[in-house]
Amino acid sequence: PYDVLVVGGGPAGAAAAIYAARKGIRTAMLAERFGGQVMDTVGIENFVSIPYTEGPKLAAGLEQHVKEYGVDIITAERVADIQRQDIVRLRTESGATLASRSVILATGARWRELGVPGEAEYRTRGVAYCPHCDGPFFKGKSVAVIGGGNSGIEAAIDLAGIVGHVTVLEFADTLRADDVLQKKAHSLPNVDILTNAQTTEVVGDGKKVTGLNYLDRATGESKQLALAGVFVQIGLVPNTEWLQGSDVALSDRGEIEIDARGATSVPGIFAAGDATTVPYKQIVISMGAGASAALGAFDYLIRQSVD
Ligand code: FAD
Repeated sequence: PYDVLVVGGGPAGAAAAIYAARKGIRTAMLAERFGGQVMDTVGIENFVSIPYTEGPKLAAGLEQHVKEYGVDIITAERVADIQRQDIVRLRTESGATLASRSVILATGARWRELGVPGEAEYRTRGVAYCPHCDGPFFKGKSVAVIGGGNSGIEAAIDLAGIVGHVTVLEFADTLRADDVLQKKAHSLPNVDILTNAQTTEVVGDGKKVTGLNYLDRATGESKQLALAGVFVQIGLVPNTEWLQGSDVALSDRGEIEIDARGATSVPGIFAAGDATTVPYKQIVISMGAGASAALGAFDYLIRQSVD
């Protein structure tokens, strides 16, 4: 068996693999795709100490750094099941099994998509999912936020300080965000909130977003907004469906519950990054969490009896 088996090759998984391998223990990484969400990102301006980089470049850097250590890397495989008796056993979708004394789960998350025409076409060309990441690209311009839950209203408040104007579109007839956030958003002069607004299409000029179309569900009318950006804030879904029914405790949103050392509810199973209950989902945060989980796994391993 391995000492540490990392599942996931994004920022959290890469940091975990590097920290584990540097302890001189047998380390492996299983990842469907190296780089994770970073591969879907164009400009990155908040990776501390690197003022500007791009997703594929950062992903290549993660891969190169991991490969400098003797980490066994298995890609293009998805894990399907995990079980722990004396050691942890993973089964992949193709039927292979892997055994390890400890495991670090870093399978990340994905943004829930609207699924309307134009969304995929204009992704990274006006359609954005992360206000912390992409807000400054829309300085002084008009943007929409789709979704009136906590993340949507937080995004609107955040963006209102950077962009020219924010329109929030909520499908239901009321917002779901906390009252205090709603009050704050309503108090801002450059934020408009539309309820009963069903986004039907993201519109562009072939190069970038120019607006969106929505259905006013109260009147049945189709309406347009002219915009430079559309922030989709209808949820971040952790890639943990495969853990349903396992002994690893998940929150009601499907996030892996961890403590400050990255330990899950199962001894020997650790987790890090966007797949977990960590409150903020960012590259630097995932990397720090991956490092913590690897150190947590190492502390766990040195306390196991020798047999
Ligand atoms: P991920 O990056 O999601 O990596 C998950 C890994 O697990 C991948 O290797 C995946 O292939 C693998 N995996 C998933 N399921 C399985 C499975 N069943 N079996 C095997 N492997 C599996 N953050 C910033 O800090 N700055 C930014 O500018 C920024 N911009 C962003 C732009 C976009 C468009 C997106 C989508 C995100 C952005 N983020 C940004 C967020 C950032 O990318 C994430 O916080 C970060 O990538 C999370 O790292 P992670 O390692 O936890 O997960």
